[in-house]
Amino acid sequence: MAAFISDGREGLGRNATEAGSEAGAVMADRPGLMSYYSAMSEALGPMHWWPARTPFEVIVGAILTQSAAWSNVERAIANLRAARMLTPAAIARVPATRLAAIVRPSGYFRQKARKLKAFVRFLQDEYGGSLKRMFSTPTGELREKLLSVHGIGPETADSILLYAGNHPVFVVDAYTHRILSRHGLATGKSGYEEVRALFEDSLPSDARLFNEFHALIVNTGKNWCRKREPRCTECPLSSLLPPESSLLRLPVAAGKQNRGANLTT
Ligand code: SF4
Repeated sequence: MAAFISDGREGLGRNATEAGSEAGAVMADRPGLMSYYSAMSEALGPMHWWPARTPFEVIVGAILTQSAAWSNVERAIANLRAARMLTPAAIARVPATRLAAIVRPSGYFRQKARKLKAFVRFLQDEYGGSLKRMFSTPTGELREKLLSVHGIGPETADSILLYAGNHPVFVVDAYTHRILSRHGLATGKSGYEEVRALFEDSLPSDARLFNEFHALIVNTGKNWCRKREPRCTECPLSSLLPPESSLLRLPVAAGKQNRGANLTT
C-alpha cells in the first residue's frame, strides 16, 4: 500500500485539466484527487475489498449487486455456495428457473439469473471457460467484450476488471458522482466515462490504488455523504469542501457520529 501512496502523490500536481477531460475544467482550482484519497485513507484505514473468496465469486457479486443492497447479495451468494454453484460450470448446467430461485434474495432474480448465464456462456464461447485466459486479455479489449455481454454495463464491467481481474480501471458509482459533484469536481451532467477518465487520467495507473480508492468512496458515501442530510462536519472529506459550500454550515445531527465501518455496496 505504501508504494502506491508514494507514487500516487506524484499525481497531485497533475490536475484533470492537464488530463484534458471536460470534468477537469470544473476542478481546475480544486485539490487533486490524491488529497481525497489521503484524507479518506488516513481516517478509515484499509478497506480490504472485494469481500469474496474467488474471482468468480467477485463476478457473481458484481452482477447480483445491481440495484441491490449488499446484505441481500450476501444472502444470495450464501445460497449459491450452499448449492455448490459458485463455479462457471455449475451456473452453466443449472436450469435458469432453479438459479433464479437460488439468487432470489438479491432481487430482480429472473433477470439476474439470465445475466449470470449470459456471462458464463460468454466465458465458455470466448475463453473456453477459463477466467485466467479471459483476464490475460488486454484491458481495453476485455472491457469492450464485457460490455457486449447481456446485463453487463460500465460499472459492472469495471468492477469485474478491477476486483476480479486486477486490471487498472476505475469503478464509478452513484457515491462517486455525488461526492465529486458536491465538491465541485464534476457537474451533475458528468457521465460515467467522463468521471472514469477524470480518475484514470489524473492518477497513476495502479489497480491497488483504484481498488482502495473506490472502496473508500463507497464507505464515505454510505456513512457521511448521503443523498439527504449529508454529514459534512463529521466527514473525512470536510476539509476538502469548497469554502463557499453551504454544506459546511449544515448542523451536526445529534447522536449520529460514526467513524465508518468496512461496509460494502
Ligand atoms: S458528506 Fe459533505 S464533506 Fe463528506 S463527501 Fe459528502 S459533501 Fe463532502
